[in-house]
Amino acid sequence: MPDTIQIKKSHRLFERAKQVIPGGVNSPVRSCLAVGGTPTFIKSADGAYLHDVDGDTYIDYVGSWGPMVLGHRHPHVMEALEHALQHGTSYGAPCPAEVELAELVCKTMPNIEMVRMVNSGTEATMSAVRLARAYTNKSTILKFNGCYHGHGDSFLVEAGSGLATLGLANSPGVPESIAKLTISVSYNNLDAVKKAFAEHKDIAAIILEPVVGNAGLILPKPEFLEGLRELCTTNDALLIFDEVMTGFRVSKGGAQELYKIKPDLTCLGKIIGGGLPVGAYGGKKEIMEMIAPSGKVYQAGTLSGNPLAMAAGLAQLRILQSPLTYKMLESNTNRLADGLKAIKSNKKFPIQVAHVTGMITVFFTKEPVIDLETAKTCDTEAFAKVWRHLLQNGVYWPPSQFEAAFMSTVHSKQDIDKTIEAFEKALGEL
Ligand SMILES: *Cc1c(COP(=O)(O)O)cnc(C)c1O
Repeated sequence: MPDTIQIKKSHRLFERAKQVIPGGVNSPVRSCLAVGGTPTFIKSADGAYLHDVDGDTYIDYVGSWGPMVLGHRHPHVMEALEHALQHGTSYGAPCPAEVELAELVCKTMPNIEMVRMVNSGTEATMSAVRLARAYTNKSTILKFNGCYHGHGDSFLVEAGSGLATLGLANSPGVPESIAKLTISVSYNNLDAVKKAFAEHKDIAAIILEPVVGNAGLILPKPEFLEGLRELCTTNDALLIFDEVMTGFRVSKGGAQELYKIKPDLTCLGKIIGGGLPVGAYGGKKEIMEMIAPSGKVYQAGTLSGNPLAMAAGLAQLRILQSPLTYKMLESNTNRLADGLKAIKSNKKFPIQVAHVTGMITVFFTKEPVIDLETAKTCDTEAFAKVWRHLLQNGVYWPPSQFEAAFMSTVHSKQDIDKTIEAFEKALGEL
């Protein structure tokens, strides 16, 4: 019996998973299908590291896709959770932590006066759009190619993220009558937005990622966000910032603080739950008070505001109140970005390094990426090869060219330098 061929536990788990879970995963990108890999099953995590079921350790740049901005198992978050656990897991009645978290969110996010907790980013965006439609008494939603707003029917039009990864634009199962209420245009293209307003009198809201993370990282042109704000105001449409990814990450008050733009509604998720399932949407009091039971726009949730999720979110947001955390996050991101930019480029495989505090993408293309269309010029084969190389060298990078990597405050200089070395080696072997 050859004992050199050892079937990994991850492989065995994946084979079992495929029998009972579609594609073997509960969220598509995790399958690592696009990079020619199979999922690594994780046994535990701490700080900046993931430990898999086969005993290997990785430097983690997925960070649960955003929530783990302070790293895994931050002691304060763990302590808050352990404390909350002593009191019960869900009451279906209000608890004090809901009020505290809502107060802290209103204090931290510049344009949230009132906030409603839900259980995921998807719920937040779906509910925000319903509210915008009710408030404006209009139906059409304008979004941007490559922006992902969760898997609500209205958003699965040129949706980036997992759809872009699988080479899809839309999803079967979304009725034409619903899809036609969503207009999707190119990111960073104000003229396309003006044209849409001229052609459609029924636009209730513009929803966007003010910094895109779901087509890889794409920054807004300075005049783009300002232009959108103006166009919404003049056309009686609401501006919805989907800050599920950027909220409490690109700065304490999210992209709206970074770019000094005032959206009418803001969607939150990921970081706000400290690793537990939480989403939220908030904004001007006048609009938010239309939600039941103070108003008639219906939205509810059995587990919304549950004490465990609130405790984790509160603990994490309290730590994030310190400006020091963002200094750390920024200097960690810059160290990685500078190191990657300094890699002597392989002329056949040029790369673009895009970054903002807490997020980074290495695009395998020769021009800077400004929208989904330019993101699609990337050499996804080269990306896949590099990704597999990184994994073998202990770096867990997002398994798609169309996803941003997430930095935490606890990635050490050594972790970052090791990552840069692994990239350099992988690029050299292309
Ligand atoms: C992740 C994400 C969502 C969806 O959040 P879920 O919790 O996965 O439903 C929505 N919008 C943006 C910008 C996201 O990054």
